[in-house]
Amino acid sequence: MQDLTKFDERGAALFLSRAALIHNYQTIMAHTGAQKMIAVVKADAYGLGAAFVAKTLFDQGVRDFAVATTAEGIALRQALGDRPAQIILLGVQNPALALQMQTYELAPAVGDVAWLTQAAQVLAESGQPDRPVRVHLAVDTGMGRMGVQSTEEMAAVYQLIQSNSAFELAGVFTHFATADEHDQAYYDLQKERFLNLVQSQAIDPAYWHLANSGSALFHPAEINCQTLRVGSALYGYNPAFPEKDLPVALEPVATWQAQVWACHRLAAGRALSYGATYVATEDQWVGTVPIGYADGYHRNLVGMTVLVQGTRQRILGRITMDQVVISLPGPVPFGTPVTLIGQDGQASITVEDLAAHSQTIPHEILTGIGARIPRIAIEERR
Ligand SMILES: *Cc1c(COP(=O)(O)O)cnc(C)c1O
Repeated sequence: MQDLTKFDERGAALFLSRAALIHNYQTIMAHTGAQKMIAVVKADAYGLGAAFVAKTLFDQGVRDFAVATTAEGIALRQALGDRPAQIILLGVQNPALALQMQTYELAPAVGDVAWLTQAAQVLAESGQPDRPVRVHLAVDTGMGRMGVQSTEEMAAVYQLIQSNSAFELAGVFTHFATADEHDQAYYDLQKERFLNLVQSQAIDPAYWHLANSGSALFHPAEINCQTLRVGSALYGYNPAFPEKDLPVALEPVATWQAQVWACHRLAAGRALSYGATYVATEDQWVGTVPIGYADGYHRNLVGMTVLVQGTRQRILGRITMDQVVISLPGPVPFGTPVTLIGQDGQASITVEDLAAHSQTIPHEILTGIGARIPRIAIEERR
C-alpha cells in the first residue's frame, strides 16, 4: 500500500509555521516590554492546535497557558506531560468539576462567592485536602460575563479565597471589551474600575493580568503589561481588523491548502453545483477540490478567490458540504495545490480576506476550520 502524507490522503491540510509563531511571540514581548505572557490556547489555539502552540511556546520560556473548558485543560495537561506549566481556565466553569481541576492542576477563573462555596464543598467531600486549587479572581469592569463588580463583592470573594485552604490566589484579572477600537474612553473606564477594585484589597500588581491582543498591540505602555494574556496576535492576526493596521509586523501562522482532485472542461452553457447558479459563458477549465462547508469553508464564501499555480482563481457556484468547484488557468495535474489561506508566488489570501468576505472576524474563520482538516506543523515560514 502506498504511504500517503496526511495532505495527500485528505487533499487538504492546515500547515502551521513554528517560525512564524516564535516570531510573533518575540515581537509582542519586545513591543510591550512585558515580563511574561499567558498564551491563550482556547478552542484548540483558535483552531491551530493547542499542543503544537503550547509546546512551541514552552520551549521559548512560556509557562502559563489559558484554555476555555475543563476538557481542554485536561487535554493540554496530558499533551504537556511533565513540563511544569500553569493552565488557566478562562470563562465560566461548572463548580461540580472542582475535583478535575484539582487533579489536573487547572486554575479556574472565579467571580462569585456562590461558585467558590459550591466548589469548596465538592473538594471537601472527595478532594485532597492538602492540594489547593489555584484560582484567578475575575473582575468585571465592563465585559459583563463574570466577575466581581463592587468593592463589597471584591472583599467577599478575595477574603473567601484567602481564608479557605481549598483555594490559593494565583491571579486577578479583567478583560477589555474595546482595546482594539479608536475611542479609548471605555478602555480607560475599565482600567480605572480595575485599579479601584484591586487596590481596595491591596492586591500586588504581580498578580494582575489584563492585556489581551488589542491591549498589548495598541496600548503597550499602559499599566497592564507586566503579564500579557494574548491569543490572536500570537497567531499573526490583527484583532483590530478592519479598523486599524498592526503596529508591528506579525506573521500568519496558518496556511490552508487543498488540492485539485478532478479537472475537466465545462462547456459554454453548462451549469454547476446546487441550484445550478453558475453557468459557463464560454468553454472553461474547472477543478473540484475536496473541501466544503463541513470543513469550515463557509457557504457564504461563494465567489471568493483561491490561488492555483500563483494565479488568482475563483470559487464557482455554491459551496457544498465536502467539495467545491473552482476556475482553473487550464488543465492541471491531479493533486495540484490550491491555496485557500496563504501565499502562492506573489499572490496571497489572508484570514482577514476570508473574514471580510464572510462578514465576520478572523477568529471565527480559524476556529471554524473543521476536525477533518489535518494540522501539520512545519518549521519554516510559508
Ligand atoms: C480570548 C481571551 C483572551 C485572548 O484574546 P485575544 O484578543 O485573542 O488576545 C484573553 N482573555 C480572555 C478572558 C479571553 O477570553
